Amino acid sequence: MKFSTLSRNFGMKKLRVIKYFFESMWTIAKNLLTGETFVHPEVARQRYSICKSCESFNPEYDLCRECYCVMGIKTKLEGMQCPLLKWDKLGLNKNKK
Ligand code: SF4
Repeated sequence: MKFSTLSRNFGMKKLRVIKYFFESMWTIAKNLLTGETFVHPEVARQRYSICKSCESFNPEYDLCRECYCVMGIKTKLEGMQCPLLKWDKLGLNKNKK
C-alpha cells in the first residue's frame, strides 16, 4: 500500500502523532543509554512557559494538541522537540547544563 493511500486512510494528523510518539520513545531510550535524561530546570521552565502561551496547548490536560505529549514532563526531558519548532527560537532544544 502506498504512503499517500495510507495517509488518507488514517489521516495525516494521526500519522504525525504516531511519528512523534516513536521519536519521543527513541529519544527517551537514547537518554537512558547516555544518562542525559533531564535538561537544566531553567530550560524546562522556559520551554513550559512557551507552551503555556501556545494556541496548541490544552491546559486542562496539560497536553500539546500537536503531539499529544504531557508538557509538564516533555519540557523536562533532554532531546525533546516542539513539533512546531517554537522552542528552537530560544535554542531550547539543546541542553544548557
Ligand atoms: S510543544 Fe510546541 S506546539 Fe506543543 S504546546 Fe508546546 S509550544 Fe505548542
